[in-house]
Amino acid sequence: MGKITGFLDFKREVEKYDSVDKRLKDYKEFTIPLKEDNLSNQGARCMDCGIPFCHSGCPLGNLIPDFNDKVYNKRWRDAGRILHSTNNFPEFTGRLCPAPCEEACVLGINEDPVTIENIEKNIVEIAFKEGWIYAKPPETRTGKKVAVIGSGPSGLAAAQQLNRAGHLVTVFERDKKVGGLLRYGIPDFKLEKNIIDRRIAILEEEGIVFKTEAHVGKNIKADDLKKEFDAVLLCGGATERRSIPIKGSDLNGVHQAMDFLKQNNQRVDGIFGFEEEIHAKGKNVIVIGGGDTGSDCIGTSNRHGAKSVVNFEILSKPSTGRPANQPWPYWPMKLRTSSSHQEGVERFFSISTKEFTGGNKGNLTGLTTVEVEWIFKQGERPELKEVPNTEKHWDCDFVFLALGFTGPEKTLPEAFGLKTDFRSNINASTKDYKTNEAGIFAAGDIRRGQSLIVWAISEGRQAAHHIDVYLMGKSNLPLKDDNDLPRV
Ligand SMILES: Cc1cc2nc3c(=O)[nH]c(=O)nc-3n(C[C@H](O)[C@H](O)[C@H](O)COP(=O)(O)OP(=O)(O)OC[C@H]3O[C@@H](n4cnc5c(N)ncnc54)[C@H](O)[C@@H]3O)c2cc1C
Ligand code: SF4
Repeated sequence: MGKITGFLDFKREVEKYDSVDKRLKDYKEFTIPLKEDNLSNQGARCMDCGIPFCHSGCPLGNLIPDFNDKVYNKRWRDAGRILHSTNNFPEFTGRLCPAPCEEACVLGINEDPVTIENIEKNIVEIAFKEGWIYAKPPETRTGKKVAVIGSGPSGLAAAQQLNRAGHLVTVFERDKKVGGLLRYGIPDFKLEKNIIDRRIAILEEEGIVFKTEAHVGKNIKADDLKKEFDAVLLCGGATERRSIPIKGSDLNGVHQAMDFLKQNNQRVDGIFGFEEEIHAKGKNVIVIGGGDTGSDCIGTSNRHGAKSVVNFEILSKPSTGRPANQPWPYWPMKLRTSSSHQEGVERFFSISTKEFTGGNKGNLTGLTTVEVEWIFKQGERPELKEVPNTEKHWDCDFVFLALGFTGPEKTLPEAFGLKTDFRSNINASTKDYKTNEAGIFAAGDIRRGQSLIVWAISEGRQAAHHIDVYLMGKSNLPLKDDNDLPRV
């Protein structure tokens, strides 16, 4: 382990942010990296606690005490090797993961947990800067061909693993550029897109072929892929948006969050001339939905120069600390304040929207809400009750619906004739990621529903192992639980 008394000697430190004034001027990332000595001290806080609960907190099973020890000793290259043995893309998770590992950290029982996520990001950034991350094409090829549909984190992770096993991998992506929600959902101020491009260049050099504007089930036939490839992995995400079927939801100014976010990411990428510009400058904005997508709409609206930004969440306000019924090492449902929240928003909880109101040109002018309360009864689903006499009218010009996603879009399951579960996700068990059709596999959000980047990478890696077994009868690709030795 690192320093025996590290957790007593050093306080937790995390990256600070540029001032709100400064960061609202553009869409760039705004974190101020910790200095090398400070990072080493943070690595020293890891107690090597015998049973590292952080391993099971991390959906990738990252070997956290091992890389923390290397960081404490400033052996960055070794730290990078250990980190990459379980995670293909720590530059994404090190920026965007909600870090369930930190909630499971043993030190977190009575102290601030180890700064795992920031350490992860710095390990990979130092490795890129030093040139330690470069293309490593496989030495031999198996001659087997695999099609991966979708280029989000699950598709990319699976593609890299399958390519390492020597298979010829082609990734089909319907959008103009690859990256999935990393590219067209998550704003640049959380993830600058050159971070994706940098990694894609390496994957291409390793031999993975990317076909963009290739919409499987539309301009590419599923049957053709089945004939051409030995296995197909579906990583199409879960992007069927939830709508709000109330009066006025068709008014001009009521937008799906993803239309707003995708358009802005394209604008930042230099693409202009949209059929309908969705720009919040000077507008009174209400964001409905209190999750990540809602938070991204808040940050984007403030960068546009919105006049006001208000956020509604139908759930009640969580406590600021860990609730008693979600003890360590579980992920607690507590109040989280994102960097976008800090930039300016009024947040309201236990609020339900009843109707949107508009003027005679069909433009949104406001909405009406009611307060709600949640009734919890043992063994029953929580019941939502409106609180009488709490109706309220709010003026607004724009509403962004960030209500989550109901599941995968229908195109892929229909094109391949696949069974889906009661939530419309593709039916494939984590035992082998196989669907009901021979040779067709599914991983990531399309299988588990809208989730997290870290889960998408984890599923992509696991599915790659099982596809390799399907093609070759055995596999050297690591599974989550057999990462006992770091692989280069
Ligand atoms: C606004 C927003 C913010 C988020 N922020 C975070 C965050 O901060 N941290 C975090 O951990 N998670 C976050 N998430 C969740 C995270 O982005 C997803 O869980 C993750 O991207 C899922 O990866 P995936 O590879 O399964 O699917 P996706 O990233 O959705 O990628 C699926 C890809 O498949 C392509 N595709 C679909 N159908 C076809 C087809 N028929 N033919 C060809 N291509 C197809 C799509 O175009 C897309 O590129 C956020 C999600 C959203 C919407
Ligand atoms: S990927 Fe997420 S959960 Fe895993 S170690 Fe990194 S920050 Fe923690």
